[in-house]
Amino acid sequence: MSPTTLIAEPVVNVAPDAIAEFNQYVMNTYARFPIALERGEGCRVWDSNGKEYLDFVAGIATCTLGHAHPAMVKAVTDQINTLHHASNLFYFAPQGQLAKWLVQNSCADKAFFCNSGAEANEGAIKLARKYAHTKLGISGPVILTANASFHGRTLATVTATGQPKYHKNFAPLVSGFDYIPYNDTAALEAAVAKYAGRLCAIMLEPLQGEGGVNPGDRAYFARIREICDEHKILLIIDEVQVGMGRSGKLWGYENLGIQPDIFTSAKGLGGGIPIGAMMCKAHCDVFEPGDHASTFGGNPFACAVAIAVCNTMVQDNLIANARERGQQLRTGLQAMCDRYPQHLASVRGWGLIDGLVLQESSTIQARDVVGAAITSGLLLVPAGVKVVRFVPPLTVSAAEVDRALEIVDQAIAGL
Ligand SMILES: *Cc1c(COP(=O)(O)O)cnc(C)c1O
Repeated sequence: MSPTTLIAEPVVNVAPDAIAEFNQYVMNTYARFPIALERGEGCRVWDSNGKEYLDFVAGIATCTLGHAHPAMVKAVTDQINTLHHASNLFYFAPQGQLAKWLVQNSCADKAFFCNSGAEANEGAIKLARKYAHTKLGISGPVILTANASFHGRTLATVTATGQPKYHKNFAPLVSGFDYIPYNDTAALEAAVAKYAGRLCAIMLEPLQGEGGVNPGDRAYFARIREICDEHKILLIIDEVQVGMGRSGKLWGYENLGIQPDIFTSAKGLGGGIPIGAMMCKAHCDVFEPGDHASTFGGNPFACAVAIAVCNTMVQDNLIANARERGQQLRTGLQAMCDRYPQHLASVRGWGLIDGLVLQESSTIQARDVVGAAITSGLLLVPAGVKVVRFVPPLTVSAAEVDRALEIVDQAIAGL
């Protein structure tokens, strides 16, 4: 490009030898693996050298149907040819259809659409605060969230995230949040007493994804539900990672035997097309025109793709597949724990959100296992320092799970 050219050549592909150039222009916010992914099909992806990988990351629990799924290709193509975007100043069918599907298949009565998990959680926080101001008469509402949680990177959601490493250098944070240890009923009761008259919501993941694939405890969540009912506090469940079939149920909260007042969805909802949803029950549906909005939120394109994801999930029994393949995966990983007790401690998770927990005393860390697996052709992602996370597409086959187990076994044997 000559120095006088104002518009660069169109970029067709980022080849690996272009990584330095990529880093010259893209902000350094991610610790990336030095692989340029180029193409995907089903549960497999290929890099720019043509090397094939089994994809057990799925865009971090996002590519529900894997890559290049015909149902997604059709929905994308049909909708872009019809109407891809229209402002929420107007009505358009796909948004209403998606809301209807989500309402008919959950405990919620209403949906608000946005573009990401953080944005869905922002909406939930705003809704809970408006509920506190207008229904409970609380002027300084407090929301409790859990230690080791993850709710997003915007200022309010990063404040809600109970991990100090994500707060560093971003003060002043948003006021009105405090943290409790997850699955600890005594600490919960103490915090509820401490904030009596000011508490408006408790916001939790049904299973902590980012924080180490740590499932919620049924008795703990049953007690939370009781406390919320007793004190008219809202229970907000963050289903951004666990929801949309991944847990072996459509929503993670179904594994806990409770219903939230508000829940959020994003990652798996559009199968990789950006969309988020904030769902609520009728009694806390307090937003009015002008209260909350999003330019792109719920546009016809994203909604049409999400509808295709939902329909395919039902038609192809993908939730049952998540349960069965998850069981197969955990059984295989448990056998590995028995083979390598010095390095591997345990396996935990629901459906196709599973974690292999390394021994605290072992010198091996999650990123070592992930690095070795990637070298051998399996994409994995850590969830903290000592947990390897498995979140493949819900379409994953028994043979692909067996192959992934083989690669992990070899990776650990080689470390
Ligand atoms: C990923 C994630 C978020 C944030 O979603 P973004 O789309 O990255 O904003 C929020 N909550 C949970 C539980 C998540 O896993």
